[in-house]
Amino acid sequence: MATQDNAIAEARARLQAERAEVVNEVESLRARLETKGSYGLGEGDPMIYQWELNLALLERAQKHLAEIDEALEQLDMGIYGRCERCGKPIEPERLAVLSHTTVCSQCAQRRR
Ligand SMILES: [Zn+2]
Repeated sequence: MATQDNAIAEARARLQAERAEVVNEVESLRARLETKGSYGLGEGDPMIYQWELNLALLERAQKHLAEIDEALEQLDMGIYGRCERCGKPIEPERLAVLSHTTVCSQCAQRRR
């Protein structure tokens, strides 16, 4: 069974790998978003929808990146893996699939 110490060591490696991926994603989306305007797009143009989709993806990726950075900060401060709502340790199983989470599964359910 996974212990919290193991989960934390694994989480750091996973968060760093995840961060590199998200940074790549942000950069490629930014590059694609810069092409707007050079086409003289009109209203209802499919390219506009693609652009808006990319913008939504960029916002999501940036939010994800902020969450990863926050989790890495918590790792450095030694408070990673603790639920910010109830203060209990977050389940290792949950950290394994959702490394950047800051709440335990019970609190996450309650939030919905
Ligand atoms: Zn909690």
